[in-house]
Amino acid sequence: MTAAVIDTGLLTDIKRFGAADVSACFSCGTCTAICPLVGDDDTFPRRMIRYAQVGMRDSLLSSNELWSCYACGECSDSCPTQAEPSEFMAAARRYAIASYDRTGFARLMYTRPFLGTLISLLLAAFFALFMYTAHGPMSGTSFDIFGFIPEELIHNTGIVVMIIIFAAGLLGLATMARRVSRDNGVTVRSLLGGRAALSKAAGAAWSALAVDTLAQRRYRKDCESPDNGLAVAGIKATGTPVPIWYPVRLLGTIAGIALVYGTAMLMSRRYRRADRSLKTSTAADWTFLVLLLVTGITGFAIELGLYLPEPPVWGYWLFLFHVAVAMELVLLAPFIKFAHAIYRPLALFFMSFVAKEVAS
Ligand code: SF4
Ligand code: SF4
Repeated sequence: MTAAVIDTGLLTDIKRFGAADVSACFSCGTCTAICPLVGDDDTFPRRMIRYAQVGMRDSLLSSNELWSCYACGECSDSCPTQAEPSEFMAAARRYAIASYDRTGFARLMYTRPFLGTLISLLLAAFFALFMYTAHGPMSGTSFDIFGFIPEELIHNTGIVVMIIIFAAGLLGLATMARRVSRDNGVTVRSLLGGRAALSKAAGAAWSALAVDTLAQRRYRKDCESPDNGLAVAGIKATGTPVPIWYPVRLLGTIAGIALVYGTAMLMSRRYRRADRSLKTSTAADWTFLVLLLVTGITGFAIELGLYLPEPPVWGYWLFLFHVAVAMELVLLAPFIKFAHAIYRPLALFFMSFVAKEVAS
């Protein structure tokens, strides 16, 4: 058995990711009693705070519960010492994203706001310049955006970007999986060794991905409030103009409206600090939302250009900007808030699998 390593600077480090001062916490357990996600044997979020207070970095980073939290803020509302456990959980997740990322880029994005913003701007400028070097003519007879920036170039650049984020995401997932599986006593054999194990793993995967990630069962059951809107990922139809009611375009337009509306609502709520979970925002949180909003709005402006009688010159430049920002958004995905989309399902998978193991 290996002794737990104590990191005396852990709490100070997590504070750099936006945590309130949880040194006020005296482990009364009120937050645990009030949290809608806590089962009979669970002790979070109090246990997570305790890990940070005593410097148990490994235990914190190995916790599934970090990712099952929905940031509803109920624990903060009931905390008698204003230790803000909900804020702490959000900061601890940012800290975890930075710790799973081996490149150090996520840490920079979260803890060096000025440098992070500068890098975001430079990245967008790089993509724009790169695409511009291969640009074609701006057609004056039709709004031929792919004649201006070749579709093939966008496609190939997208593949390179996807390979980079896939590698970064996979490395982060592997780091997290190693920690979480070790902490929960899950081995390759217990996951894949035999029919019963495979059946449990498949059931846990279904529960994590379909039931709790896509259908958001736990969230809707325990945490949903009329104010909590979720943004829907946009789908954008490409190609030459087609009627607005054409099914693919219509679907893209509706998804785009949902994306812009959802992102604008989230920004407004974050700006107004509409609930306890939004009390602290990092520059990286804003970067993510701004990039999403800019991608959505510029997408609509380009769509508008497709239906104008004369092809607009501004539309070509906007298209270049739109592609550069979208590429940047994808490239930054494993290092900013998007990373929740990969780490949370994995944590839910392990939670479900361990529950099935205990029940069998
Ligand atoms: S965070 Fe607040 S409610 Fe939770 S255990 Fe600490 S003092 Fe109690
Ligand atoms: S924010 Fe909500 S889900 Fe998260 S620990 Fe607090 S009460 Fe539980």
